[in-house]
Amino acid sequence: MIQNESYYRRIDLPAGDLHVYAGDALFRAMGAKPLEMANNNLQIPNIRYMSYTPDAHVGVGTCIGTTAVWKADEGFVSPTIVGSDIGCGMRVHLTNLDADDLKDVKLRRKLVKAIEKRIPTENHARGHFSDIRLEDVLIKGLHGLPGKYVPDAYTPRRATSLTHVEHARFRYDENALNRIPEHLWHRAHRQLCTLGGGNHFVELQAVTLDEANRDIGERWGLRDGQVIVMIHSGSRSWGGAVNQHCGSEVVKTMRKLGLGTADPKLAFAPLDSEAGATYVNLMYAALNFAVANRHLLAFAVRDALRETLGPQAETRTLYDLMHNYALEESHNDEPLFVHRKGATRSLPPGHPDNPEPYMETGHPALIPGSMGTSSYLMVGVQSGARNYHSICHGAGRVRSRNATKQLVTVDEFAASLRVGQEDEVVVNHRALEAIIDESPQAYKDVDQIIESVTGAGLAAVVAKCRPLATVKG
Ligand code: 5GP
Ligand code: MN
Ligand code: MN
Repeated sequence: MIQNESYYRRIDLPAGDLHVYAGDALFRAMGAKPLEMANNNLQIPNIRYMSYTPDAHVGVGTCIGTTAVWKADEGFVSPTIVGSDIGCGMRVHLTNLDADDLKDVKLRRKLVKAIEKRIPTENHARGHFSDIRLEDVLIKGLHGLPGKYVPDAYTPRRATSLTHVEHARFRYDENALNRIPEHLWHRAHRQLCTLGGGNHFVELQAVTLDEANRDIGERWGLRDGQVIVMIHSGSRSWGGAVNQHCGSEVVKTMRKLGLGTADPKLAFAPLDSEAGATYVNLMYAALNFAVANRHLLAFAVRDALRETLGPQAETRTLYDLMHNYALEESHNDEPLFVHRKGATRSLPPGHPDNPEPYMETGHPALIPGSMGTSSYLMVGVQSGARNYHSICHGAGRVRSRNATKQLVTVDEFAASLRVGQEDEVVVNHRALEAIIDESPQAYKDVDQIIESVTGAGLAAVVAKCRPLATVKG
């Protein structure tokens, strides 16, 4: 049932309907460009449904915040709709620490340094992770990692890190891997356990449970004041290599079949074409890389926590999910091909695609805000089916990096991080200028975004999480 239509509108565009889940102010602030872009995307043949979540904003060819759906047997796949960082996503680990344990700002600084030491932004030195075969990671995802890299406080057999994930492994035709040249494999290998630049991050946060869903939070292992680790990263240069290889093949196929839209940047191919199938295979390899990368990042963070706070520091996986991908999914027993670009799947209790540990509650949906504001842990609700169980993937950018640099002063940025106060959000960059384009002012108001998501009946809040320290790429 629709809860509140002031958070939803159907826009009748010349090429088809666009569904927008956003309150009035957020909708008006989106401007005309996202509507123009939607009209181009809706020109792709056979598209059945397209929507924006409230964090939607302009991206290359397709807005970030898009859900686009085809019937599986007459489907198209679009590398443009998936986006450049294939498999980019979120991971949250619970810890046995309380915010009070990190009260000392010096300790937070030490912890940030310890994390930074283990997680470079760009590449590890050659020879790092020599016990991991990239091929195993690309083919088997989490199952391709040696058992010793367990980011959980359990023996490998009991680890939550393989069970509490949206996908541990995608299966596909491995022959597609031969298309990626060897030097790009080497590069990707050195990027295992790296963060990537921009808005990728590792963040320590403190939990406040939402009263209405306290029981769900407690079943997930959350408690008030608990420290959690939130990780945002993707497939690094492997995703780029896939796009580079497939982009030109997809465009050739479009020419051959006489396909196109008003936007030449919008690339797409039928699922049953060779270029379409190759892209899907290599995209799955990138999803495998991305989930393994986040797993290794979490392993490194646990190591850093133990070094800084002692061996009693424990973490376990709450969940890992993606927000840039395309996947065959069943909705009302109908096989569909669903693209999410900057959108998060959020399944309700009882939905068969929940992993077993979350079948009864629905799985956690992990929604970052910004380094100076809150982030959220959400859960799906039955009425989320109206948007194919897609919700926002963050607050969403409200202004470009350059515009942010021009608008925000270092003092304002420092104030939003409460620098100098007891509850300062400690960051890894000594000079705040270097990351001013990532200041909270670069993003929409996450509380408003969440209000739209809950108001439209797409998901419910389980916990609101306050940042304590952030390691930014
Ligand atoms: P994207 O996947 O589009 O690159 O970004 C996802 C979201 O992450 C952004 O819309 C923003 O809300 C959020 N975000 C970016 N930087 C940070 C950060 O440092 N900390 C937190 N908690 N969220 C962030
Ligand atoms: Mn990314
Ligand atoms: Mn992302």
